[in-house]
Amino acid sequence: MIPFNKPYLTGKETYYIEDAVRSGKISGNGKYTQKCQKFFEDLYGFSKCLLTTSCTDALEMAAILINIKEGDEVIMPSYTFVSTANAFVLRGAKIVFADSRPEHPNINEDTIEPLITSKTKAIVPVHYAGVACNMDKIMELAAKYNLYVIEDAAQAIDSFYTGRDGVKRALGSIGHLAAFSFHETKNIISGEGGMLAINDRQFIDRAEIIWEKGTNRSAFFRGEVNKYGWVDVGSSFLPSEIIAAFLWAQLENIEDIQSRRKQLWDTYFTSLAGWAAENGLALPVIPEYATNNAHMFYLICSSLGQRSRLITKLKEADILAVFHYISLHKSDFYNNSHDGRELPYTEKFTDCLLRLPMYYEIHIDRVIKQIMR
Ligand SMILES: *Cc1c(COP(=O)(O)O)cnc(C)c1O
Repeated sequence: MIPFNKPYLTGKETYYIEDAVRSGKISGNGKYTQKCQKFFEDLYGFSKCLLTTSCTDALEMAAILINIKEGDEVIMPSYTFVSTANAFVLRGAKIVFADSRPEHPNINEDTIEPLITSKTKAIVPVHYAGVACNMDKIMELAAKYNLYVIEDAAQAIDSFYTGRDGVKRALGSIGHLAAFSFHETKNIISGEGGMLAINDRQFIDRAEIIWEKGTNRSAFFRGEVNKYGWVDVGSSFLPSEIIAAFLWAQLENIEDIQSRRKQLWDTYFTSLAGWAAENGLALPVIPEYATNNAHMFYLICSSLGQRSRLITKLKEADILAVFHYISLHKSDFYNNSHDGRELPYTEKFTDCLLRLPMYYEIHIDRVIKQIMR
């Protein structure tokens, strides 16, 4: 049986967890949390990182930080995970869904400007499959209309964007804020887990307070204030040291994990290119400005029927391939709140995108053989 995903363990996860447990400090913001945060800040140039219990939590923190309130509008793609939208809906925002690009599930940057109104507060680009959205265009719109940009970088660890200025920047370091996921289906994992990256420094102090249940506890432990108390809204967003210890074992091996995934991705791509062309399927497109972090390998089938047949054919060989998002603008929950605009490319990816199994220890040749049979 080849599952769709299998979490990869580097071997030192339980060693570091044991170390955390033995040290007697297993609540949040201890040694391992700080090691992980510093690792990300140093490697990717984020001004400040805070580990969270999920990417969903990091998105919710972002919504609180930019003071989303009843009636604010937030623009995002419809082809995304529910958390991208839920984080803002929880604070009363109206979601204005944009269509995907014709050849890629990412938000079509050319469709955003007409959706901006006096109520628009933020744009939330989602870097689908870890491939960058057109950030120059999105940041220009944000500057022109005074909006915040929150990158949903859940899938985008260790991926980059090269702007018009020729500078290569890590995804998650470009918007005002960004959210990452370490859910077991992502490249770097801790079971459940996530991180808020803060690039606009005005948010750093308040982010720490929101993270610590609305208290200035972090400043207290640094000796900056002599007592701590309730100073703002907040919640319990920080993970325990046990989770951070697991994550640290992954981070020590990030290069190895990434190179293995890229090797698998390239094998899929070169092996399937001819077959896909003959059968009317498209392979992933990586724009010139983007790198590929090999988060996901997908096919774009020519129809829903073709996709269903391919899923069945793989299942016959005990191989699990899965489709992905169901357009949020057509969801049971949001259907009636959507303004009725058709989003044809979102629909196309809902019907035709198929994700192939992809994990460190996969026997990829078996998958490729069965697809081309
Ligand atoms: C995985 C994912 C999330 C949610 O991540 P969690 O850590 O499970 O909360 C949000 N957005 C996108 C695009 C994702 O892929």
